[in-house]
Amino acid sequence: MTDFFRDLPHGPVAGLGFAAKDCERAAHLRDNADWQASARLSGKARFILLCREVPLLDMTGPAPRARFKLAEATNLQASDEMLFLGLDGDTPLFARALPGDHFDDIKQAGRYKLIDMRSIAMQDLLTPAETALVGTAKAMGHWHQRHGFCSACGKASKSASSGWKRICESCGAEHFPRTDPVVIMLAIRGDRCLMGRAPAFPEGRYSCLAGFMEPGETIEDAVRREIHEEAGITVGRVKLLMAQPWPFPSSLMIGCLAEATSDEITIDPNELADARWFTKAEVAAVLAGTHPDGISAPPSMAIAHHIMRVFVDA
Ligand SMILES: [Zn+2]
Repeated sequence: MTDFFRDLPHGPVAGLGFAAKDCERAAHLRDNADWQASARLSGKARFILLCREVPLLDMTGPAPRARFKLAEATNLQASDEMLFLGLDGDTPLFARALPGDHFDDIKQAGRYKLIDMRSIAMQDLLTPAETALVGTAKAMGHWHQRHGFCSACGKASKSASSGWKRICESCGAEHFPRTDPVVIMLAIRGDRCLMGRAPAFPEGRYSCLAGFMEPGETIEDAVRREIHEEAGITVGRVKLLMAQPWPFPSSLMIGCLAEATSDEITIDPNELADARWFTKAEVAAVLAGTHPDGISAPPSMAIAHHIMRVFVDA
């Protein structure tokens, strides 16, 4: 029998940032008001705390800690509005916001530190699953922060379903958290692949091309369009490899390989500072940090790194 799943991992790709999971979302408990009320006050509950979307960590233990007890959250004047993140075993997990005007005070206090999400992920301050959990809290906090008013009628909306939707009390419209899909891909032509550098990249950095999907497009359409727009290369077949939640602020990165059907690169200078073809041996050197021109890859938490790895290992 054909094994359609032969090359696919059974779970999140190892090392891919924001993809690991060790708690279940327990969506069936979101609308259970009695359960939520008692879980929030139980001694087992733990709270992820964010101030202006920056996660709070306790840096005083043997390892940084992102889960706080009820008394700690109360002392820090965490908002009563909670996002139910799910269950880790029998530990109910919630996210809460800290008052934004306390930001500087908390930053200066020694015990707790506000550390931006990118640094937490880049420096492996938390376990992969904990980084993903805090990333979800950050993405959801961002959405709540910017959706306080109904996009249908303009009146105030309020959080419902333990933070997983907002309801307009005026017109009744329900609003659900956004995930913005982004295609990110390597175009491949024989033994070479196409990588580019955005103007904002660090010196020497090359990566996969990427762009937001647009309404009315398939993933494959978006891959073909973006590569053609940014680099003038035409694309035939497209293969989906893996996906990654990316909470900056709320993207889903959709990693693909694309079969290039032309060679001549014409960059869009508004999108790219440069794009060029790299041989497989060159990409291997880029990933190993040994490329003779000092060309570097995105860090291993980023999906681009893993897509490049797939190309090199094939
Ligand atoms: Zn409304």
